[in-house]
Amino acid sequence: MIGLGDAQGGAAPPVAAEEVPLYEIRRKIYPRAVSGVFARWRVALVLFTQLVFYGVPWLTWNGRQAVLFDLAARKFHLFGLTLWPQDVIYLAVLLIVCALALFLFTAIAGRLWCGYACPQTVYTEMFLWVERKIEGDRLARIRLDAAPWSLEKFVIKALKHSAWFAIALWTGYTFVGYFTPIRDLGVRAITWNLGGWEAFWVAFYGFATYGNAGWMREQVCKYMCPYARFQSVMFDRDTVVIAYDPGRGEPRGPRSRAADPRERGLGDCVDCRICVQVCPTGIDIRQGLQNECIGCAACVDGCDQVMDRMGYPRGLIRYTSENQLARGFGRRMLWRRAVRPRSVAYALLLLVIVAGATVALALKSPLKVDVMRDRGALAREAAPEVIENVYRLQLMNTDETPRQVRIGASGLPGLSVVGVEQPVALEAGATRLVPLRLQAPQQSAAPGSHPIEIVVTDRADASIERREKSTFILPR
Ligand code: SF4
Ligand code: SF4
Repeated sequence: MIGLGDAQGGAAPPVAAEEVPLYEIRRKIYPRAVSGVFARWRVALVLFTQLVFYGVPWLTWNGRQAVLFDLAARKFHLFGLTLWPQDVIYLAVLLIVCALALFLFTAIAGRLWCGYACPQTVYTEMFLWVERKIEGDRLARIRLDAAPWSLEKFVIKALKHSAWFAIALWTGYTFVGYFTPIRDLGVRAITWNLGGWEAFWVAFYGFATYGNAGWMREQVCKYMCPYARFQSVMFDRDTVVIAYDPGRGEPRGPRSRAADPRERGLGDCVDCRICVQVCPTGIDIRQGLQNECIGCAACVDGCDQVMDRMGYPRGLIRYTSENQLARGFGRRMLWRRAVRPRSVAYALLLLVIVAGATVALALKSPLKVDVMRDRGALAREAAPEVIENVYRLQLMNTDETPRQVRIGASGLPGLSVVGVEQPVALEAGATRLVPLRLQAPQQSAAPGSHPIEIVVTDRADASIERREKSTFILPR
């Protein structure tokens, strides 16, 4: 390697070049088990989210799967609500609401989502639980990995991977069960009758779960997750994050429980490194807020246990904000500062969008009508002094029950519908094309194009009505 001095050919002494690898080899992390308030919250959220994820596809509503994203039929069923391709706006709104909620919670309380509800955290937690049950806690796992291969090690590892594999496969099956009826999928899976795409997605999603939660773990958060990259721009000095209190903890150092740290010139940190050992991303929170911190609060629980044993007050590592650490104000002020222009703006926007979407969904008509003019036959004389225009109506019944509708027209004197057998029957959740002929007297208006309305009304419930605008042409 050539140093800078050599390249310039001058008198500068050669600079020793250091080779820096482009890729840092992963150091396997063995997070230690921890118990405490936040660990209990995390377990509760793992149970809740997985109960929802694994349970919802098995629910039934009106004789069909309650939640089914039926891509083949291009219909999304959400309990009593059916969304069609025309309703894609609601899905867009749902994504906007999720993004805004994420911005709001991040601005107020940092990486709450990452620490408690993100699928990567939740599945890593589940896989770690299995690992601990089979291989033991941190030290046992380190020893097992360091030990040479033996029959016992092989059996333990095989058991763990079999359990991981079973969870991953069930997860893949559940995921596909949101897109194709899950019971039917189960029967076909047992009889080896899965379609090619179904088998692919079960295997793909299962493999992704196994790889991400079993092997990649914190690397997904560190290197792959885009949210981890841009969330820091949503933080400010009042965002509640997990932080170590250096004013209280430093200078750190070991001591006996009986020793008075003040007499020895020490802070409250006993430098036991429990906070590092329980961290799923292997960082030391005492070095300050870091990109790798997913906000899981395992270090808070771990340190609180140490504080309890030492007889010190809890909270050396705690939920706090940069401003609280710097100014030392109380908890009440910490949460009062959650109300600030940025969070209020997010909350108001969220409220308006959710309210608007709720009202729009409540008023959503189960009847949809599209009027298409027949361009091949603009206007013709059907009888002396009677002009006829031809249209095609696309009628859609988005409800789960069949209905009958009447078709009418208004906008010109004497305008009438002909050639349609009324009422028109519409199957549940179906679309029907109806050829429509409208007739009007030649003298009803001046020659030219006239705006009209085609009115489709439910026979049993007149409040369900759609009015679609079109034109009627009277030739010269
Ligand atoms: S767990 Fe608490 S006392 Fe132990 S090293 Fe971490 S901050 Fe210091
Ligand atoms: S530093 Fe603490 S909160 Fe952050 S990831 Fe590690 S254990 Fe979780």
